Amino acid sequence: IKYTYMFGAGQTEGKSDMRNLLGGKGANLAEMANLNIPVPPGFSITTEACTHYLANKGLTDEMHKEILAAVDKLEKTTGKKLGDNADPLLVSVRSGARISMPGMMDTVLNLGLNDVSVEGLSSKTGNPRFAYDCYRRFISMFGDVVLDIEFNKFEKALEAQKKKSGVESDTDLSVEDLKEVIAASKKIVKDEKGFDFPQNPEEQLFMAINAVFDSWNSQRAITYRKINNIPGDWGTAVNVQSMVYGNMGDNSGTGVAFTRNPSTGENKFFGEYLINAQGEDVVAGIRTPSEISTLEKKIPDAYKQLIDICQTLEKHFKDMQDIEFTIEEGKLYMLQTRSGKRTAKSATKIAVDMVDEGLIDKKTAVTRVTPAQIDQLLHPMIDPSCKQDVIAKGLPASPGAAVGKVVFTPEDAEKMVGKGEKVILVRTETSPEDIGGMYVAEGVLTVRGGMTSHAAVVGRGMGKPCVVGCGDITISEAEDNKFYVGDLVINELDFITIDGSTGCVILGEMPLIPPEISKEIEVLLGWADEIRDLGVRTNADTPEDAQKALDLGAEGIGLCRTEHMFFEENRIPVVRDMILSETKEERQKFLDKLLPMQREDFTQILRVMQGKPVTIRYLDPPLHEFLPKVYELKEDLEALKQKNAPKAEIEKVEKIIDRVVNLHELNPMLGHRGCRLGITYPEIYNMQTRAIFEAACRLHKEGITVKPEIMIPLVGHVRELEITKKDVVETAQKVMDECGVKIDYTVGTMIELPRATMTADKIAAEADFFSFGTNDLTQTTFGFSRDDVAKFIPLYIEEGILPEDPFVAIDQEGVGELMRIGVEKGKSTKPDLKMGICGEHGGEPSSIRFAYNLGLNYVSCSPYRVPIARLVAAQAKL
Ligand code: ADP
Ligand code: MG
Ligand code: MG
Repeated sequence: IKYTYMFGAGQTEGKSDMRNLLGGKGANLAEMANLNIPVPPGFSITTEACTHYLANKGLTDEMHKEILAAVDKLEKTTGKKLGDNADPLLVSVRSGARISMPGMMDTVLNLGLNDVSVEGLSSKTGNPRFAYDCYRRFISMFGDVVLDIEFNKFEKALEAQKKKSGVESDTDLSVEDLKEVIAASKKIVKDEKGFDFPQNPEEQLFMAINAVFDSWNSQRAITYRKINNIPGDWGTAVNVQSMVYGNMGDNSGTGVAFTRNPSTGENKFFGEYLINAQGEDVVAGIRTPSEISTLEKKIPDAYKQLIDICQTLEKHFKDMQDIEFTIEEGKLYMLQTRSGKRTAKSATKIAVDMVDEGLIDKKTAVTRVTPAQIDQLLHPMIDPSCKQDVIAKGLPASPGAAVGKVVFTPEDAEKMVGKGEKVILVRTETSPEDIGGMYVAEGVLTVRGGMTSHAAVVGRGMGKPCVVGCGDITISEAEDNKFYVGDLVINELDFITIDGSTGCVILGEMPLIPPEISKEIEVLLGWADEIRDLGVRTNADTPEDAQKALDLGAEGIGLCRTEHMFFEENRIPVVRDMILSETKEERQKFLDKLLPMQREDFTQILRVMQGKPVTIRYLDPPLHEFLPKVYELKEDLEALKQKNAPKAEIEKVEKIIDRVVNLHELNPMLGHRGCRLGITYPEIYNMQTRAIFEAACRLHKEGITVKPEIMIPLVGHVRELEITKKDVVETAQKVMDECGVKIDYTVGTMIELPRATMTADKIAAEADFFSFGTNDLTQTTFGFSRDDVAKFIPLYIEEGILPEDPFVAIDQEGVGELMRIGVEKGKSTKPDLKMGICGEHGGEPSSIRFAYNLGLNYVSCSPYRVPIARLVAAQAKL
């Protein structure tokens, strides 16, 4: 097996499609070298080497030898030797997994320096300040990443020296100052580890390589993988690369940039750089970086070349690139390129623009936006009609508004969120250890850092509202959980609102409203509509929801729950009277009162939907859900007795209590509900049928087409459908005859019981359509009560019993298998049977893909998830 691949200096062995083996960074370094872009030469150690290393608990002799051979080649190309005292080869040791895991694995720079060669470097370059700066950086990075000493300790030593010498910036430190920092740093190593800072470059190199491999299994890497569903067995590659130096003076520098704006998508070079700096200085917020366009004045040739390279890279990769570069004494080197993380807004704009520019086709564009990003676009913003008490302003790093209680540590964030609180994580700056806390927080606010800081990049990736570099605030140094804005004190657990689109920090809990859909989104979703076969409908119970869903592109209503109409305040008394009725006649009396109300509901919804199909589900929940609680009634009774109310009144309440007690069910979800109600009280369903058809006939007369689809819930046996359907057809016919109108309608059923799926061939004979009610089907398949799962599902997921909550994403293996059987059996009777799913799963990406693969005709989801469903339905086909 080959464990190392050279890149740069005309000896490149890899290319960009070898990312599984070389990691994203290594593969793209090779690709840039292939494109004749200046890349400092080096070699990648493969991800395979990493998995062998981890299994073997160390490098094998074979790997060790091969690495030394690669070093040898690198020495030949660079003309320098690792460990040479006069002109040492220095390298960076960089990790790079298959997909970019920002900041997860740390980089060590200037490796190869020691007490002797630092002097060599100094005289060779004639730049002692530079040489000692490299050495102090190396000791601290190596100390942090490889020796696992808190980086803070080294930072403090540097800060202390700056204070002592009375300088503001690290670049103002003299050689003597730097030597003191080095001595202090070496002392830290000795104190912490009990041994001296390693002086042998070869030993340094192997220690660093091992550390990168080990970091694959660090807690923070594991957390990141868990959040992002990255398999643990991929491993990371290591890149060993000869150093170029951005810290050689004012004609040198380092920067990070995006070929387009990662926040807005604007086709304009976007980035930051620092003069006389190295490595991660820009991202770490050590000094405040400058805006990239100002580089044109400072180092014009390098700037021009950088712009050219960016264009080459975009054309080549056909995507927006996130690049890292260093300028050494006026000469530009590229150190990294990858597809840039971006906000949803940016992703859609770039995708649409690139189609316009002829760089990609529509299909590719549709795959460039993730469902999570669409979701992000549907994130709330602050109600603009409200007065905002803006207390501070930072950089708008990741859009969307967030409201929550202030917490200062990721641990506290996780703790509070565990208690059901919403939090805003406030940090001086974030680091990879904060990922878990950032993930659960509503939003993130940092004091330091730029638009490309860790918090900004991770925030955008997570779609998490984020304000960074908010220098207006100071976090209390006393670690007493406060932050200040001038004289204003904000305590832990105080409410704040942050606006990641404007950078504003606002005192208190602002009301949030949903955002508008941009033109680009509409274009992109329009392309998705052209591509997809799977229909997208919505679940809507009100004309407002129906309209919202239409605006978001729904093609019909897949689930209109009629019981929600019964819950309305002025209706519930009538509904209660209806339920408490003891005779059919009495019940009919109250149903007659409900009829015009339901008719009005249906008229409005059908009118809004303008001829698009509307699936109306008949009354489904157990009746007692509509009734008052017994203890409430008993309180009423007591009150009546207290004030000596008339006997008749008291008896009435007593009777109601009796009836409610009587209606009480031990297992209501499996009780007297769904079509069982329609069969025991046919007059209820008949009222609903009448309401629908009277509404339909009226609209028909107004010239509005209507397409009602009657859906009978909770059918487990074909006879249940037969009986209820017969009533529907009879009543519908009666109404249509009365009105002298003919309405096109269908009668179908929910498939939400295991028995229904197993006898779907028989049920299909009676049904015009199936709608998989995946919520109840999940409930009845697992035997999990949806309302009680919170007690054990989290543990099930933690223990790995279930990969995720089956009420969120369809359990394909179990529930999905029943669906498959249902589809197959249904089609065996009626090959053209229309089928869909409704319920929460209809808007969840993996479930939508599953629905597509099952050959369903449509999914139905809540209005705000309609755009997600449109996108995923298209992506599922591609
Ligand atoms: P990350 O994955 O955290 O971005 P990198 O491996 O890209 O880590 O390293 C971080 C930074 O270190 C780079 O952006 C670059 O500025 C600097 N760096 C890495 N290797 C070299 C090198 N060979 N020469 C100069 N700078 C380097
Ligand atoms: Mg890093
Ligand atoms: Mg990098």
